[in-house]
Amino acid sequence: MNETELRSALAATARQTVSQGLNKGASGNVSVRLGEGFLITPSGLPNDTLQPDQMVVVDMAGRSSGSLKPSSEWRIHRDIYHARPEVDAVVHAHSLHAVSLACLRRDIPAFHYMVAAAGGKDIRCADYVTFGTQALSDAVLVALQDRRACLMANHGLVAVGASLDATLSLAVEVEELCAQYWRATLMGEPVLLNDSEMDEVLESFKHYGQRGDDQHGA
Ligand code: 13P
Ligand code: ZN
Repeated sequence: MNETELRSALAATARQTVSQGLNKGASGNVSVRLGEGFLITPSGLPNDTLQPDQMVVVDMAGRSSGSLKPSSEWRIHRDIYHARPEVDAVVHAHSLHAVSLACLRRDIPAFHYMVAAAGGKDIRCADYVTFGTQALSDAVLVALQDRRACLMANHGLVAVGASLDATLSLAVEVEELCAQYWRATLMGEPVLLNDSEMDEVLESFKHYGQRGDDQHGA
C-alpha cells in the first residue's frame, strides 16, 4: 500500500477501535509501518472522528512532520518496529476487561487455548510505568518478547501483527480472553492447559484457517 492508502487504512482502524469496543474518546493509539518510519494516530483526538489527513508520519529518530503532534506513545510503536522486523502494525487500547486484569498486574495464563493466538503459553503483563515514557516502551518490549500481545499494568493492552486488520483482530481477541478469564474466575479457579496441550495448540495454529497447509489442493 502507498502512503495515501495507508493513511485511509490507519484512520479506519482507529475508528474501528471504537466501534469494536476497544477504545473510547482519545484512549489508545494505532500505527502502521511506512518506509523507514511509520504512520501513527495524532495525540489526544477522539478516535471515532479521525481522518486520513490527520495521521502523522514519524521517523525512527522520533521526528514527526505536519501540524499535529503524534501519539504520546510513539516510542512504543517506534521501538516495536525497530526490534520486530516482522511487525507492520501496532494497536494500543484501553479496553474494559484488559484494563481490569492489567490493574491486578497478573499475566493471563493458559486458561483457554486461544491464549496461543498471542504467540505463546501466556499473555504477560508489562510492569507499570507512566504513559508516554521511554521506560514504558522498554517495559512493553520485555513483555512482548516472543509474543504478539501483552497487557500493560494499570493501563491497557498492546497487540502487534503483519497487517492492521490482523492486529486489530488480535486486540479484539485479547480483550475477549480477558472478559472470559474474568468470568471464569468469578465461578472458581480455571483449570489451566498444561505445557504439552499448549504446544499442540501452538503447532496447530501454524496451519489454522487459511494459513499454508500442504494438504490443500494436493
Ligand atoms: P495519545 O492520544 O497521545 O495516543 O494517548 C492515548 C494513550 O493511550 C496514552 O497511553
Ligand atoms: Zn494508553
